[in-house]
Amino acid sequence: MNESSEPSLFSDLGLPASLLKALNDVGYESATPIQAAAIPPMLEGKDVLGQAQTGTGKTAAFALPILTHVDVKIRHPQALVLTPTRELAIQVAEAFQKYAAHIKDFHVSPIYGGQNYDGQLRLLKRGIHVVVGTPGRVMDHLRRGTLNLDALKTLVLDEADEMLRMGFIDDVKWILEQTPPTRQMALFSATMPKPIRRIADRYLKDPITIMMKSQTATAERIRQRYWMIAGTHKMDALTRILEVEDFDGMLVFVRTKTATIEIAERLEARGFSCAPLNGDIPQNQRERTVERLKKGAVDVIVATDVAARGLDVDRLSHVINYDVPYDTESYIHRIGRTGRAGRVGDAIIFVAPRERRMLRDIEAATRQTIERMELPTSDDVNNQRIERFKQRITDTIASDQLDIFRNMVLQYQVETEVEAIDVAAALAQLAHGDAPFLLPKDAPYREPDFKRSREKGRSNAVARDFNSNLSRYRIEVGRADGLSPKNIVGAIANEAGISSRYIGHIQIEREYSTVDLPADLPDDVMAILTKLRVAGKPMRISADKGSGPDRGSKTNRPNKPHREARKQSFSVKEFGTKKAKKAKKVKKDKKGKVKG
Ligand code: AMP
Repeated sequence: MNESSEPSLFSDLGLPASLLKALNDVGYESATPIQAAAIPPMLEGKDVLGQAQTGTGKTAAFALPILTHVDVKIRHPQALVLTPTRELAIQVAEAFQKYAAHIKDFHVSPIYGGQNYDGQLRLLKRGIHVVVGTPGRVMDHLRRGTLNLDALKTLVLDEADEMLRMGFIDDVKWILEQTPPTRQMALFSATMPKPIRRIADRYLKDPITIMMKSQTATAERIRQRYWMIAGTHKMDALTRILEVEDFDGMLVFVRTKTATIEIAERLEARGFSCAPLNGDIPQNQRERTVERLKKGAVDVIVATDVAARGLDVDRLSHVINYDVPYDTESYIHRIGRTGRAGRVGDAIIFVAPRERRMLRDIEAATRQTIERMELPTSDDVNNQRIERFKQRITDTIASDQLDIFRNMVLQYQVETEVEAIDVAAALAQLAHGDAPFLLPKDAPYREPDFKRSREKGRSNAVARDFNSNLSRYRIEVGRADGLSPKNIVGAIANEAGISSRYIGHIQIEREYSTVDLPADLPDDVMAILTKLRVAGKPMRISADKGSGPDRGSKTNRPNKPHREARKQSFSVKEFGTKKAKKAKKVKKDKKGKVKG
């Protein structure tokens, strides 16, 4: 988005009233760039290839056209969305539900591994219009005949590159082959590695390709910092920054109209002079707010991107990206509200660990590194409060309007013989009110655990902890079945909720494979694993007795492969890394030498 291009209104995109109403309910003000680009062609039934990551609003970009075309009278799935993880499946299904709030009798269901089949079967039988699922489980239902795609109108691959990374791409292709050739298809992916391109080339028909262009801009006069969201709530973080940061005027960007009001009200309650700015606020009132900001009657404005477009107020010293922007262009537009009239400005962005990609994109787009900032500690905040308090005393004394009070205090002292210091302290308490003056000491700071939060956010909703050592398990699927380690990792992590940090060494043989997993796997997890399929075959997992990494030696392993058998072995840590690729290359070179 730049200053000259107009934002796209949902009402201009050809969406029905029921959806516009729901979008208004959730407080969306305008369409994000990916939505503006993808919704019209998808409504026309065209195939779409979209390069978009989490946070760009891609879910609504495909959900809204799908909901426009759904016929609730047809009680069979009309759209299928494939997602790499159950977490995302649930999230996407919830988004459908939210946007379909005014579509009567509409049903969507997430279908993912680790959940019992009976509940899913009941739902499927009852008749659902949109299925959102992970590839493994969708494939199972198709094989069992419990999911019928004859009425399918639209198929969406969401986060295709993640599905590739998790080893689901063959499953995805298989599912694609089961869909009616007439269906519309949309593929969304943050990156476009070759295998994803090949899928796009093979399965998409004359697609409309949407690449979010990233405008570059220099922001020399703007100091950019980020705070990695961890432990503290965003609202508390914002308050701390407001208390400690030396600012003149501040603009806080949020995503929805509702959030502008909510946050402005909360900041007001915490003693800041603050006002919301969003597209629902009448124009003359908005103009008044901007005037008040210019005059210093308000210091903090909480705004949506649309409402703050073109805002030109010299005293805006700080821009806070409370919610990350949809793309780098809107970020550049946001931070351009500060650093005006030759002044220097400050931009701070709050990012969750899973939004780190946006941070890298912004660095590339602004050709600047964004400094990491630590949140002010409670000591910092308290010191500021004490300083401000002292300053207020000095200012009040200087105001020279104390005569009445001076006489009263004197009178009180004579009557009661209380020390002046105690009188002053009592008056300060009176003026301050009941709320504690100082913040309590901070809890010890913990570095955000990116790996954990990524795993929690992405791969499994019920991640478990295991205490025991790893033990070796045997899987009755091997290289001959086209199995690769990522198939195993993807299936086990996603379907059984075992985080990849508990998946150890993997060895692929011709007819079977072994994988190291915690020895104390509970029965319910074993039950899921036993039924799991990889590379299109049942895994039939069993304990590989006597050969685990924590017991027994390789030589007395009952399942020791034939010496000649070609082996591929990997450990999860190496898998997919440069090291693993290098190791593979060395292997190839060696083979080459033997041949030569
Ligand atoms: P997504 O990229 O689909 O995961 O969406 C990221 C977040 O943006 C979600 O919390 C959505 O609710 C929100 N969102 C999506 N579209 C809009 C919009 N047009 N205006 C405001 N928020 C939006």
